[in-house]
Amino acid sequence: MTLDARDFPSDRHGWAELLPERRAPVPFRGTRRVAWAVIGAGVTGLACARRLAELHPEQEILLLEARLVGQGASGRNSGFAVAVSHFGGGFDAGLMDEYRRVNRINRAGLEMLRAQVAALAIDCQWREEGFYHPAADGPAIRECGHFLRYLEAMRIAHTPLDGAGLKARLGTALYQAGVHVHEGALLQPAALVRGLADNLPANVSLHEASPVLKIEAGAPHNLILPGGIVKTDKLVLAANHEAAKLGFLRRALIGSTLSGSLTRVLSDGEFAKLGSLKDWGLLSLHGGGATLRLTPDRRLSVRNAAEYHGGALLSDKRLARRQAIHRAAFEKRFPDLAHVPFDYAWSCVEGISRNFTNFFGRQADNIYLAGGYNGSGLSRGTAFGTALADHASGGSSPLIEDCLGSAPATWIPPRPLLDIGAFFTVRSRFKGVGLDR
Ligand SMILES: Cc1cc2nc3c(=O)[nH]c(=O)nc-3n(C[C@H](O)[C@H](O)[C@H](O)COP(=O)(O)OP(=O)(O)OC[C@H]3O[C@@H](n4cnc5c(N)ncnc54)[C@H](O)[C@@H]3O)c2cc1C
Repeated sequence: MTLDARDFPSDRHGWAELLPERRAPVPFRGTRRVAWAVIGAGVTGLACARRLAELHPEQEILLLEARLVGQGASGRNSGFAVAVSHFGGGFDAGLMDEYRRVNRINRAGLEMLRAQVAALAIDCQWREEGFYHPAADGPAIRECGHFLRYLEAMRIAHTPLDGAGLKARLGTALYQAGVHVHEGALLQPAALVRGLADNLPANVSLHEASPVLKIEAGAPHNLILPGGIVKTDKLVLAANHEAAKLGFLRRALIGSTLSGSLTRVLSDGEFAKLGSLKDWGLLSLHGGGATLRLTPDRRLSVRNAAEYHGGALLSDKRLARRQAIHRAAFEKRFPDLAHVPFDYAWSCVEGISRNFTNFFGRQADNIYLAGGYNGSGLSRGTAFGTALADHASGGSSPLIEDCLGSAPATWIPPRPLLDIGAFFTVRSRFKGVGLDR
């Protein structure tokens, strides 16, 4: 398949639209010979390029991004940098080592992000007060019981809450039970990745609006771009589900399209109708449940739609239709604020595998890849990207071992079965969601 720049579309529906206009990109032009090239400037690619620059201060690291920084998943997610993963489907004491492995990776990534946000003074509304995991009915309430057993067995700091406790804090009476997990950071995702991209080490050259259209593997590898050719000794793929467009993980990683909306800034009177907390993040205990935020600048955000759409963003028309689903979730939780309009809607594609595993390591001679975090990639992608730089440079560390410990992916059948399977896989997340959506 021959790609062109149109295979990497973007739109103006993201968290980046809440920020000042991004400066004009400097697309890659000409022919360049480098030791290292990284494809994709999301959290994985940014972390990898940063670490490569530290490890190889005498070499140039070329970071190639198809769109503008902030317009991929890393800039359009819900902004939860987790330390503690929720493993749905019941607590299994036999899996405690696996839970620990994943949480070690999460915590490593969260620590790196915390350090970078502080050292680079990135203004991304970083708040580190943990998250709320509420349950409105049936399956989510049962899941809350499993989650509490897991938190207790793993000795993870948390506070169980009943409906009244949740209402007092968050201002919604929808939920009957829940838990506050104390670790974890909330942030403005587009501001985070822009801040990371704009403060890269001097030996990293970032080119936005520079899609890699083809990889000719060799020594060196040739990367074909609309404006020229890059020749690189070592290549890192941090392109998430779009690695498939370049011929990698085609049958292992697919893109699921999620969408959400943000209200306008609440007035003092509207804000007073909410609970005691000034900002918060709420992650449902049901896989199809809504993710909500009250941002520090007083907007409410709702993300509760997911679909298989061929790994693409939603058109304006389709996104407008999805807003009805976001709206219903919003009004169900905040009936007193039903008059508050949405200012923004966004869609975004997450990379998911059939068995919800992650990808890390060598793909071919001098080609490395990390990605596919199934909706939980801010801290994990940062840790994976950093560890991949070490791994590709011949290093070893406990973090690399943890990243290499991801289970192999379950095989996805070829098209058109892939599309049918992907459709049902994504749809199945809503089974039994009830009031939690
Ligand atoms: C709606 C939504 C909400 C989410 N919420 C959360 C959350 O709250 N917390 C959390 O931890 N995770 C969340 N996630 C998941 C998280 O956003 C991702 O796991 C994470 O951003 C993946 O980072 P990445 O760098 O691997 O990939 P991406 O951010 O997707 O970056 C890959 C980059 O590669 C570029 N690219 C692709 N192909 C090429 C090419 N050929 N040439 C050049 N560039 C290329 C893309 O343009 C893109 O910018 C959410 C995801 C979605 C969709």
